[in-house]
Amino acid sequence: MDVKIGVLALQGDVSEHIDAFAAALAACGCEKGSSVVEIRSPGDLDGCAALALPGGESTTISRLIDKNGLYEPIRTFKGGIFATCAGMVLMATHVADPRVHSLGLMDMTVDRNAFGRQKESFEADIPVTGIDGGPFHAIFIRAPVVTAAGTGVRVLAKLDQGVVATERGRYMALAFHPELGGDFRLHERFLKNLGI
Ligand code: GLN
Repeated sequence: MDVKIGVLALQGDVSEHIDAFAAALAACGCEKGSSVVEIRSPGDLDGCAALALPGGESTTISRLIDKNGLYEPIRTFKGGIFATCAGMVLMATHVADPRVHSLGLMDMTVDRNAFGRQKESFEADIPVTGIDGGPFHAIFIRAPVVTAAGTGVRVLAKLDQGVVATERGRYMALAFHPELGGDFRLHERFLKNLGI
């Protein structure tokens, strides 16, 4: 299967997402003819089956999405969206920080930097619904949490502070960074949800 996946390449850990999706496509047996490309302008989305919204700074990424005319094209994008950390913030309908013009694609309220500052970053083995093979080693870097998940949003993982993994149809949003750490089970689940 020839699959084209886009990674929003405005700010954040873009190359890590590119490498992770290349590995996940290989694990699904569809690396031949497939590609992972950088998305910087609306036309780059043409032919993409999925889009990754990387970790980074959601305020900055939000501003650059608007500046590059990508807000409506992402909102109306027909493929899957795989969003991590800052990407999760962007997917939400409700974000307290007014500097984030979120895409509103998943009915949820997200609290930015919910675990504190950079030095409060941590790693933890957490159970995640929908993947086999035991807990997922999750890397949290100034991570958000979902404080309320609304209509159609399925909770895949939760910590004491709140929900850290959600899914809605072709969308997946994660507070941690599965693109780091070499475990691509969540990427594979996401691709499988898209029929890839
Ligand atoms: N704290 C960042 C934000 O809200 C996200 C951090 C990250 O993506 N690692 O934008």
